Amino acid sequence: MPSTTPSSTPATNEALFARAQRVIPGGVNSPVRAFRAVGGTPRFIARADGAYMWDAEGKKYIDYIGSWGPMILGHGHPAVLDAVHKAAADGFSFGAPTEREIELAEAIIALVPSVEQVRLVSSGTEAGMSALRLARGYTGRNKIIKFEGCYHGHADALLVKAGSGLATFGHPTSAGVPADVVKHTLVLEYNNLAQLDEAFAAQGSEIACVMIEPIAGNMNFVRASVPFVKRLRELCTQHGALLIFDEVMTGFRVALGGAQSVYAKLIPGFKPDMSVFGKVIGGGMPLAAFGASREVMSRLAPLGPVYQAGTLSGNPVATACGLATLKEISRPGFYEALAAKTRSLVKGLEGAARDAGVPLVGDSEGGMFGFFFVAQPGDGLPQNYPSVMATDQARFNRFFHGMLDRGVYLAPALYEAGFVSAAHSADDIAATSRAAGDALRA
Ligand SMILES: *Cc1c(COP(=O)(O)O)cnc(C)c1O
Repeated sequence: MPSTTPSSTPATNEALFARAQRVIPGGVNSPVRAFRAVGGTPRFIARADGAYMWDAEGKKYIDYIGSWGPMILGHGHPAVLDAVHKAAADGFSFGAPTEREIELAEAIIALVPSVEQVRLVSSGTEAGMSALRLARGYTGRNKIIKFEGCYHGHADALLVKAGSGLATFGHPTSAGVPADVVKHTLVLEYNNLAQLDEAFAAQGSEIACVMIEPIAGNMNFVRASVPFVKRLRELCTQHGALLIFDEVMTGFRVALGGAQSVYAKLIPGFKPDMSVFGKVIGGGMPLAAFGASREVMSRLAPLGPVYQAGTLSGNPVATACGLATLKEISRPGFYEALAAKTRSLVKGLEGAARDAGVPLVGDSEGGMFGFFFVAQPGDGLPQNYPSVMATDQARFNRFFHGMLDRGVYLAPALYEAGFVSAAHSADDIAATSRAAGDALRA
């Protein structure tokens, strides 16, 4: 280490981005951070507190990304910080079981009735990939159904999008994924009942599982319709396929019991067969999970023949962070308050747009929201990927930068959902609506 540091002029976002690009592909460790969809220079974040983040230049933002979902309590919640400090002092990782893993598993099972056992992993990608392998191992089938516009992490078999309109057997969206690996992946249009019926009629006995984001947050914010979820459940049961809810984003975010609890209120007795969690359950630390009935989970190693493992799985610091987060969000009234705040934000955006004469529609559930610049007033919410992509991208991009300039940090792409935390105040929401009005009129 040099004994003296060079004069510390604070680095600009621009300078940091240039430096990052020399040593990290595209300057980022996850592509969407690079602002490719909206253009411009990514903000390098120096620190965050509550509902706010500060970039390397000291500019303050109201944060509506919350690390893409995990920060439901806001940044640096005192109880969570305390739990993390204590856990870190006791050791970072042991590669041996700990009591805290049991506590977290018990907490998840208590909150999600469809889950009788869970396995903890370190990322949503890992959880989704493992759930898929388990579904195939359990059913002894290879084919899987996913939906266009749903993201389930970047495992090869799931990294597939559909051709437009008709169901197509997998074309990889990424280079480096052999066609052989995705030939079992059938991609259907979200909320399209006819395609679903057709797929099951043609090959129902070969389908291991259907994986879905029940409220899709990777194509902005699109709800699976109630008839669609109902039909999914019927068809999976009828044909012996497992219905997997990917709740990496929606779990503990749209409600304490996840999106499945939202649908269970609308479809009596509704349960998925398997669930995938991430984001909120780690409270900002690398932690994810997948769970199902004891019968399904018993096919997993060391009990069964489906292999799955992880050096850092159930990490003691991550589980402490997740447990402390779950404890806070389990307090009575937490989601009512969060949902009301999120609804007021969406109403604020809609109001600002109406005043500016700009057609915008929004929606939210719990602490997750989305909004769309639609073609004309009266247009409803998009129901699938093509209709999301048909919304006004140029206007979104202008709006994104207008908001960023005014200190509001929205997700840098029109196909991403937004997130409100318990730390956002009514003043933050009001300031956001004012900024939206200014940005739309500018
Ligand atoms: C974020 C996300 C994933 C992937 O999780 P990572 O932790 O980024 O690997 C999977 N599914 C959904 C629905 C997600 O939103």
